[in-house]
Amino acid sequence: MYDFYNENIRGKIDSVKMIEKYLPNVKVYKSSSTNKMKCPFHTSDKTEDGIEKTPSLLLNDDNSYYCFGCGAYGQIYEILEKKLEIPRLNAIKILANELNLKLEFGHKDSQEFINYKKEKDKQKDRYFNNLKTNKKALHYLVKNRRIEVDTIKKFTLGFVSEDEFEHRDDLSNIINRISFPIYETKRNSPSTLGLGYGIIEKGDNVKYINDENKEPFFIKSQLLYGYNLAYEEIKKNNEVIITEGYFDVISMHQAGFTNTVGTMTNKISDYQLNLLSRITDNITLFYDGDSPGIDATIKVIPKLYRFGFNVSVIIIDGYDPDDYCKKHDFNHEKIKKEFRLKKEVGIQRIINIETNEFQRYIFNKRTEIINKISPLINSVNDETLKKVYEKELMKKLEM
Ligand SMILES: [Zn+2]
Repeated sequence: MYDFYNENIRGKIDSVKMIEKYLPNVKVYKSSSTNKMKCPFHTSDKTEDGIEKTPSLLLNDDNSYYCFGCGAYGQIYEILEKKLEIPRLNAIKILANELNLKLEFGHKDSQEFINYKKEKDKQKDRYFNNLKTNKKALHYLVKNRRIEVDTIKKFTLGFVSEDEFEHRDDLSNIINRISFPIYETKRNSPSTLGLGYGIIEKGDNVKYINDENKEPFFIKSQLLYGYNLAYEEIKKNNEVIITEGYFDVISMHQAGFTNTVGTMTNKISDYQLNLLSRITDNITLFYDGDSPGIDATIKVIPKLYRFGFNVSVIIIDGYDPDDYCKKHDFNHEKIKKEFRLKKEVGIQRIINIETNEFQRYIFNKRTEIINKISPLINSVNDETLKKVYEKELMKKLEM
């Protein structure tokens, strides 16, 4: 791998161009003599989000880098590897592709990975078959959750029955749960990389658990739930709707919003955003309509802007996407119509929510709101839009 890099890539590619293309949220500080960026390898002198305050990493013309802050040095692929959170081989592949080179090694999945995927696919199939004959689990999905059989098939949902003990004994607490296979991001017959499991009866148990990460095969933060099913629609609509949970994605698809994916948490990783940035410029965030959901939305928006996305936000008071679809009987037209009314451009929506109950006589309330929203407004790339939001906020706060 290193021989290949040294012989075919090193010194032949434009480091700055690669950074700008594959790390759109990283700024390259260019001058006539040097190109610098903020060092991703620093362990001290970092701001809160782990980024160096001033750029001290030099990008050399021969594709090496050197940080005069921490002394880190190496080759361009290490920067991609670090920032994109991908294996080194994939980082080198990206560079090879840029030069139209075919990588001969590592071309196919390793035997270990193939075996891993086979095992996971087998589990998924067993669970899927279990579900067909388990009345209780089916009843839960079809009656309680109102998930149609076609949708169950589409997402290959399953049920972990007690028979599973015949196959393995490391079952801990996944028995008697609905299973949600999480597929790899390739589109041609993707394999299962891991599964999530949800309870079918309310109790003391945690509602959802997931397979533990198994690096480098299954890293949940590098996958998007429903991505393989939504890919074409995201491209076609040039829009992705991002939700949190498994049932959010499933219900949205059942309601005809087939460009929906789930992050399986209320955070979004750089890796996930890179996946999406290759196929769309437009993100619609649709998180839960409660205060954790709104807080998560506020946290995520600056990151989306940094990646250059246009951001819309749907927040529906007291509803998560799944409940909301149910409330409207999965009626696409009805929901779409309401979306049009509720979908406001990112920050506008947050301003409205946060200032909704603003009362000027509550001491310090203004400062609190401004402190919460200013970083959001500052993250907007478009200066005109930024001014509009600032004005709007001042107006709402009667300043
Ligand atoms: Zn450094």
